[in-house]
Amino acid sequence: MHIHEYQAKGLLSRAGIAVHDFRIVEKVEDAPALLEDLGITEAVVKVQIHAGGRGKAGGVKIGTSRESVLQLVREMMGMKIVTKQTGSEGVIVHRVMISELADIRREYYVSMVVDRREGKPMFMISPEGGVEIEEVAALHPEKIFKVHTSIRGTVKEGDLERLAEFMGWIDEVQKEEGKELFRNLACAFVQNECTLLEINPLIEDGEGHLWALDAKMTIDDNALFRHPNLKEMYDPTQETEQEAIAHELDIAYIGLDGNIGCMVNGAGLAMATMDLIKYHGGAPANFLDVGGSASKDKVKASFALILSDPKVKAILVNIFGGIMKCDIIAEGIILAAREMEIRVPVVVRLEGTNVEEGKGLLRASGLAIIAADDLTEAAEKVVRAVV
Ligand code: GDP
Ligand code: MG
Repeated sequence: MHIHEYQAKGLLSRAGIAVHDFRIVEKVEDAPALLEDLGITEAVVKVQIHAGGRGKAGGVKIGTSRESVLQLVREMMGMKIVTKQTGSEGVIVHRVMISELADIRREYYVSMVVDRREGKPMFMISPEGGVEIEEVAALHPEKIFKVHTSIRGTVKEGDLERLAEFMGWIDEVQKEEGKELFRNLACAFVQNECTLLEINPLIEDGEGHLWALDAKMTIDDNALFRHPNLKEMYDPTQETEQEAIAHELDIAYIGLDGNIGCMVNGAGLAMATMDLIKYHGGAPANFLDVGGSASKDKVKASFALILSDPKVKAILVNIFGGIMKCDIIAEGIILAAREMEIRVPVVVRLEGTNVEEGKGLLRASGLAIIAADDLTEAAEKVVRAVV
């Protein structure tokens, strides 16, 4: 789950990392009082959306007087912003941050991810901040330094030294501040069970002090049950309608650009199904994993979810019944067909537990379902079924 910059900064601040003071505007009319409360007249105004690239898209602007700050707030609230990461439809701005201005001498890049190969958190840092890190990685890989922490987020003293030195923090005071920052960051990463924590840019001010100017945090969805305070940070306004419904249903769903809706059990099978659709010349409209323990109502709701995407021109149901039983899937589809108009062809491939019962239910239902016996046949049929 992604959280907002302001939420991430709150968590960083609690972990001992310096962030500039800020207020969040949710209603334009509150802005004057919030600015007053901050005690400043010059401020940076930043849209709060779950996407980066705001600076280049006009979502980060500096106001040099009370009036210009308030004007920026008025302009940004409610605007539709399109950044490199929002997709061409863009997103509506519901909140903006008013923050103390930073005195920027240098911009750095710091992030942490989970390195799956090592099964450990890993720092990725670069003295080239503010710019796109993908570019640095492509053109100047030598300017990126990676180091692992322990699974508990402790960092070896020698690694802290190397991290600080790679950034060029050789002055003793600054080096200590840098090492403390890395220590705190790793703590925040592990404590909040992040899968990504990115500070771009981390800045050095005129006196050499370090501040997190931007913050991006992704929390492991599977760990959210342990963190009610983080779970609360979920913001449905940052998701498509379909993704918000999927969140409610507790199924894994990701909207894509194609027109073939997919309902699959298991993330691996879902990926394989999408690959096969592509291989046979089609394009998936979504990734959807109903999970192993779906009830027929959940199957029905998932079906409705797929159909709520107007791009969908055909549906492929691909179930390998293990824990999930084929007859439950069949009942869910039949339930869905009874309660809503299924306006597109549906190809179903069932295999595994209770497959004969499932197939029998579908046949007896009289629904116009295109049956398929294996994955390739199913993919071919659904690609052909798209009109
Ligand atoms: P992003 O574009 O979504 O990653 O948003 P950022 O928060 O990273 O802001 C983009 C850029 O705006 C930063 O790299 C800074 O160069 C600039 N910026 C942000 N806040 C300030 C500030 O307080 N003062 C100055 N001078 N520049 C800022
Ligand atoms: Mg940034």
